[in-house]
Amino acid sequence: MNLLEGKTGLIFGVANDRSIAWHIAKNAVAHGARCGFSYLPGEKMEARVRRTLESAGLSDTWTFPCDVSSDEQLDALFAAAEKDLGSLDFVVHSIAFADRAYLQPGTFAATPRDVFLQALDISAYTLVAAARRAEKLMPAGGSILAMTYYGAEKAATGYNVMGVAKSALESCVRYLAAELGERGIRVNSLSAGPCRTLSAMAVGGIDRILDKVEHDAPLRRNIATDEVGKSAVYLLSDLSSGVTGETHHVDAGYHSIVT
Ligand code: NAD
Repeated sequence: MNLLEGKTGLIFGVANDRSIAWHIAKNAVAHGARCGFSYLPGEKMEARVRRTLESAGLSDTWTFPCDVSSDEQLDALFAAAEKDLGSLDFVVHSIAFADRAYLQPGTFAATPRDVFLQALDISAYTLVAAARRAEKLMPAGGSILAMTYYGAEKAATGYNVMGVAKSALESCVRYLAAELGERGIRVNSLSAGPCRTLSAMAVGGIDRILDKVEHDAPLRRNIATDEVGKSAVYLLSDLSSGVTGETHHVDAGYHSIVT
């Protein structure tokens, strides 16, 4: 079944073939979507993104570099998307950043102001900045999806300032959903269990978190990143037409138990 046939989406956050954004993209394309990609500018990153797209036969796909911490670059990206892609049926925000020195166990209280503000800016505010620009290109029925983690709800070892940023992100999702719902645009977040990606490796407690999930989660295992991609298709498609302002957990059930 092609759940995204005829739909066009813009995906932020592919860095390599382990990225959650990439697993979402592969599943979206398999369901008939046309996807454009935005990536963090830089020669190395561009080469990695090109290789990743080529590996799935997507070398002719539309791409545009954008550091989301820059309003000018966001304006340029959405102007180019309007010109080249036309309207957008969905946007995937799969971006986060915090200085890894403060993603180590026992370093949260030491977080300096600039590190805190940068984490909140890139990991949470940019969803608002992107949604504001995207909604102008979105017809009713559009879907915006952000990526979050359980560390927004409970303190997770080493997740620290990123947990604070994810709490803010989940709140941004609810406020955006309340506002954009008037135009028929839905905004949700998907709370993924831990996956071994570049960003996850920066979190000091990641191995302990993976072990705990494998041992304690109702499904007694960690999730495969592809499972996030599959659930994202549901949230991007009309199958979830009545769902907005939601945090949908794809974490082998870990959030539902007391450990
Ligand atoms: P990843 O490193 O593959 O992706 C993070 C992306 O953010 C990269 O593509 C990076 O280039 C991009 N990025 C960072 N700063 C940027 C900026 N200023 N401008 C533009 N892009 C920028 O790692 P991932 O795990 O796939 O992370 C994707 C999302 O999923 C993040 O929001 C992350 O917090 C979330 N998440 C990850 C996990 C996990 O365990 N891996 C679990 C739950 C949620």
